[in-house]
Amino acid sequence: MFIYKRFIMKGLFRVMGMVLLLLPAWQAEAQMFGQNKPRYQRFDFEVWESPHFTCYTYLKNPDRIRELATWAEHWYGLHLAVLEDTFPQRNPVLWYNHHAHFQQTNAIMGLIGQGTGGVTEAFKNRVVHPLMMTRKATHHVLGHELVHAFQYNMVIRGDSTGLENLANLPLWLVEGLAEYLSIGRRDAHTSLWMRDAWLHDRIPSLGDLNDPRYFRYRYGQAFWSFMTGT
Ligand SMILES: [Zn+2]
Repeated sequence: MFIYKRFIMKGLFRVMGMVLLLLPAWQAEAQMFGQNKPRYQRFDFEVWESPHFTCYTYLKNPDRIRELATWAEHWYGLHLAVLEDTFPQRNPVLWYNHHAHFQQTNAIMGLIGQGTGGVTEAFKNRVVHPLMMTRKATHHVLGHELVHAFQYNMVIRGDSTGLENLANLPLWLVEGLAEYLSIGRRDAHTSLWMRDAWLHDRIPSLGDLNDPRYFRYRYGQAFWSFMTGT
């Protein structure tokens, strides 16, 4: 696959506006005085390009970057085939070396917790995530976040929808689809949750899924698995 380093930018992410972020909720975050996100290091980002992505990374490993870009292109093809929609230009993707670096990103304003594997923001459609503990996990997070990039593009640039319509989408629907399209229909982890809910007579209605007691990722994935399999 054709990918090349375009140019080097230093101190790239100094000035960022207020953004929407997807994890853990589609929500607006305002930066408050005295609550700036701490940054401990400065990262010298380089810019690489693949056919459908502009990749920002400071990884000093061209083979790894090519592999990540290949994965991104692979996911792009799968999501495009299912959703039959695509973004009009190369989509930005930011890769951090590990989670502690990712937590310092200024691509989104909100603080990033330990449990957040990646984020996709609405204004520039930037996908931001760290390399995970395993290559499999990194591959999944990339596929999951790229679904959000497609979702944002469909809603924000839809012929009758815009940024203001994002909040109308239930989170379980959005996250469930991202999980379904990046994991698939059969998933032992989600099956475990569903069996437990069934055994304890706690299968929720769709309306119940807006209650945060029901983990949107697992129940949402189960919903899409059921819908597409019926
Ligand atoms: Zn997500």
